[in-house]
Amino acid sequence: MKRIAVLTSGGDSPGMNAAIRAVARTCVYNEKECIGVMRGYEGLIDGDYIPLDRAAVGGILHRGGTILKTARSERFMTEQGRRTAIDRMAEAHIEGLVVIGGDGSFHGAKLLHDAGVPVIGVPGTIDNDVAGTDETIGFDTAVNTALEAVMRLRDTASSHDRLFIVEVMGRNAGFLALEIAVASGAEYVVVPELPLSIGNLCQKLRVSHEKKKSHTLIILAEGVMRGNDMRDKLQDTGGYDARVTVLGYIQRGGSPTSFDVVLASRMGAYAAESLFVGKSGMMIGNMNHRMVLTDLERAWSEQKSLSPELLGLVEKLN
Ligand code: ATP
Repeated sequence: MKRIAVLTSGGDSPGMNAAIRAVARTCVYNEKECIGVMRGYEGLIDGDYIPLDRAAVGGILHRGGTILKTARSERFMTEQGRRTAIDRMAEAHIEGLVVIGGDGSFHGAKLLHDAGVPVIGVPGTIDNDVAGTDETIGFDTAVNTALEAVMRLRDTASSHDRLFIVEVMGRNAGFLALEIAVASGAEYVVVPELPLSIGNLCQKLRVSHEKKKSHTLIILAEGVMRGNDMRDKLQDTGGYDARVTVLGYIQRGGSPTSFDVVLASRMGAYAAESLFVGKSGMMIGNMNHRMVLTDLERAWSEQKSLSPELLGLVEKLN
């Protein structure tokens, strides 16, 4: 294998650039060539490539977002689109591909692998909802970004004796919400994985009130309901007057934390090396602090579960 390519796909996450740099520099180290594919699978279909030599990935280690840009590609969902992408890669003598993205991107990667293209996946998404790895690239940064915002709210919440609902990202998964809740010392966390009873929550708030807590924080994953809807329900059911903050896209941006930079560097290097030794159809994971390879299918066929220990902590330590 002389030349491989790397792309970023799906939602961007902090640390993707560190992973791109690691893939490119591992190529240089092993005297191989690295090509960057712009705009995910869209660029793969269009043959939108840039050379990634040593200098091209200089100064990007701590930069948020992705220098290769990312896109969602309808065309790649079709047989014709994928055929064109494979033809373009062959014309450019690209012999292997690293796909940095979430489980959707890995679906696409698996189809390339099935068609004979060597592919390795690197999990990059702030949601951390990919089985086969303890953490995805960007998760730690998103938690820390949200934490900073929540701690500011906490200051004002305690000064005014208020109930705050903070809506965080997480359409289908509560990893972000749970981690933020433990890290911020929030009183309650509401996640898509667990059933929610507003009556029950009001009951708990009453107990909180009796404990004479100066403020109460509820961390709500957006997939359960919107923060404003929860405020209305708490008002209707228990007469509570909550303030709502929606963190939204600020959770995606910013420089990656050292944890994410190190994780992305390890994963990117391991992905390139895995291709060089003939692996394909697999994703890189960080399990118990070690780099491992698992089948790409695992990313979507297995449901990753929330830590019962962390859920217990929110309950016990509030
Ligand atoms: P995130 O979790 O951050 O949203 P993701 O990788 O899951 O990231 P998706 O939008 O689901 O993001 O997928 C990214 C792209 O991967 C899609 O736009 C599409 O081009 C490709 N893709 C997703 N699912 C499939 C599929 N079943 N077949 C072929 N390609 C797919």
